[in-house]
Amino acid sequence: MGKYVLRCLSCGRIHNGIPLRCDNNCDSLLRSEYSEKRFLPGKDRNIFKFSNWLPCEKTIKTGIGPVIMRPEKFSEYFKLKNLYCCFNGYWPEKSAFNMTATFKDFEALPTLLTFMENGRKRIILSSAGNTARAFAYATTLVDMDTYLVVPEKFMDRVWIPDENFSVGRIHLIAVKNSDDYYEAIKIGDQISKEKKIFPEGGAKNVARRDGMSTVMLEFARVMKKLPDHYFQAVGSGTGAIAAFEACLKILGDKKYKNNALTKLHLVQNAPFIPIYWSWEMKKQIMPDKNLKSQIEKIGKIHAKVLANRNPPYNICGGVKDVLTASKGSVYSVSNGEALKAAELFEKLEGVDVSPAASVCLGGLIQALKEKKINRESSILLNITGGGEKKLKKEHNCKRIKPEIFIDKKNINDIDRIL
Ligand SMILES: [Zn+2]
Repeated sequence: MGKYVLRCLSCGRIHNGIPLRCDNNCDSLLRSEYSEKRFLPGKDRNIFKFSNWLPCEKTIKTGIGPVIMRPEKFSEYFKLKNLYCCFNGYWPEKSAFNMTATFKDFEALPTLLTFMENGRKRIILSSAGNTARAFAYATTLVDMDTYLVVPEKFMDRVWIPDENFSVGRIHLIAVKNSDDYYEAIKIGDQISKEKKIFPEGGAKNVARRDGMSTVMLEFARVMKKLPDHYFQAVGSGTGAIAAFEACLKILGDKKYKNNALTKLHLVQNAPFIPIYWSWEMKKQIMPDKNLKSQIEKIGKIHAKVLANRNPPYNICGGVKDVLTASKGSVYSVSNGEALKAAELFEKLEGVDVSPAASVCLGGLIQALKEKKINRESSILLNITGGGEKKLKKEHNCKRIKPEIFIDKKNINDIDRIL
């Protein structure tokens, strides 16, 4: 056996390399199984301390990595004895050096390295902005071409710090006049198929999930156990699937087998709440039903990055399965609740958090009000982004200009930049 294999969660078939789906046509995620079952973090001061459980062989010099901290004043305010944040953004004073100020950096770097090691020369992905930013930044660190499809109205999110600014291999594709992430996904899929550019794969990409799973692994490394509760704001829910998979890997090490499985608490931003709705109503998500009303709702949410109309909810090993297995909960947080929570956090802890992270904080406050968690239990909040204000103050961040503007009627224009 090599470093890892991928197992289909539906039929059990084992795969090598980086396929995105089972060759038995199963509607299932593939999950990594590493030959090293013991949890043995290394000494690196970045994401690669968890190299044993990342699919890439290579590591590179970077400051990107999860940082566990205790928000002392915020904890005191809510009388929480064991509250921890994984701060995944930019906060040098706390050794947090994610240079795009989000946890998407954990997905991008392992993905590009793994894909390169598997012979891919270029990949394509669609994004509402944050993921494109992280992949753009990671592209400056490795030797690969990335095609990033982003709705035109979200272009202001695609920037990188000046000192890394070399856009030669970053190909930014703007979807004309669009503010719909799912439309970008559809166009990205079409380009991928017609122009034979390997898709990054989203939730189906194991490198991406294992990269994100380092948040939970860092908690286990620092605290020598799993948390009782894990909170995260979700759009696709891929980060939550990754957190769950990290728990399984930890529990697979004999030393940790007596730990209880962490409960997942997923938070969405009202009024756009497909995962909350499906979980509460026990119904399927319909990404194309009542499109106009969905787009209107997306227009209203504070954390735009959470606007995914088609999350991997029903797929085997997807959001519904991990919520069920972990006896989890889903919350619906209004813009007002999120903003209030973020203001309080910034006032007490002295750093700004991203709109998505403020939704996560709002979810914790709801759970406390509803007495869903007890104040003694250990809680991990995934602060999926933060320190953007600080980063922009300390570094000159430059926007990347789109190489081309397209829509679904003129996909072939893309030939100009291939
Ligand atoms: Zn299968």
